[in-house]
Amino acid sequence: MSIVGFVGLGNMGRPMAANLAAAGHEVRGFDVVPEARERAAAQGVTVVGSAEAAADGADALITMLPKGAHVRGVLLADGGPLTRLAAGAVVVDASSIDVATSRDVHEACKALGIEVLDAPVSGGVAGATHGTLTFMIGGAESALALARPLLEVMGGRLIEVGGAGAGQAAKACNQMVFGASLVALAEAFVLADRLGLSARNLFDVLSTSSGNCWALTNFCPRPGLVEGSAADNGYVAKFAAALLAKDLGLAASAAESVGVDLAVGGAARRRVDELAASDGTLDASAVIKAVEAIDTAA
Ligand code: NAD
Repeated sequence: MSIVGFVGLGNMGRPMAANLAAAGHEVRGFDVVPEARERAAAQGVTVVGSAEAAADGADALITMLPKGAHVRGVLLADGGPLTRLAAGAVVVDASSIDVATSRDVHEACKALGIEVLDAPVSGGVAGATHGTLTFMIGGAESALALARPLLEVMGGRLIEVGGAGAGQAAKACNQMVFGASLVALAEAFVLADRLGLSARNLFDVLSTSSGNCWALTNFCPRPGLVEGSAADNGYVAKFAAALLAKDLGLAASAAESVGVDLAVGGAARRRVDELAASDGTLDASAVIKAVEAIDTAA
């Protein structure tokens, strides 16, 4: 059994930390938001008062934070949690962030002799809850050997994709495909509606045809079609539009840095940015509202 520090107990971090606690690890969790701390405490996580306290004497430190700036603020702070870990500890940043910050985290850990992985995930809140996430792992074999028992509790699939920052590169590509799928679905439902086709009939066709995809069965933009979807709950975020906008921005800057033209990814980004600008706290599937607002025939 390990002592695990867990920083970031939001939609994803809370169920991930809860699964580690349920597996018998001592999980010391911290979040800046009191409600997140309370909900995690109700799920078996020992809540502490700071990221440093979470890391104190821990065998592993896991971060599940919104953006690179938050990861920098926590992991790269002078005298921060990295300096508090037990000897031989491993750091796992599971947040979806930019490759440059991720590489800086690897460097900072290396300088302190700490093993580290960037390990962003796919699978959403359902995957986090059921312990079936896919981890995209960048870093050394020796770090993975230390983290594997924990990752296997939280995930169903561990994919090693390369060295420092490679997990983030894989995640950016994945999110670009997810964002493009979600926007394409939103466009399809609006188009179907204006052509007189019911959402139910379009769903039945898509879900059994070549238009089927993970975004449809997990983030269907119309209510009443997928049980438990955000659309069924007034678009309360399972995956916030602001986070998808961030991911599409990361994909865009990564593409720019290596000279790749993301025609489809760029178009999807514009729509998601429109939603994020009006209300980024809504679920990403609410992008259908941005599509619906457009009427080029008008
Ligand atoms: P979230 O906003 O629900 O949770 C993030 C948590 O981090 C919040 O509770 C916030 O209060 C906390 N936080 C922020 N700054 C902090 C700090 N300095 N110290 C401690 N806690 C701090 O986001 P989420 O949906 O859980 O996503 C987390 C990460 O996982 C993001 O990078 C996101 O892109 C990625 N992700 C999300 C999903 C999803 O479906 N929600 C899926 C895959 C990956």
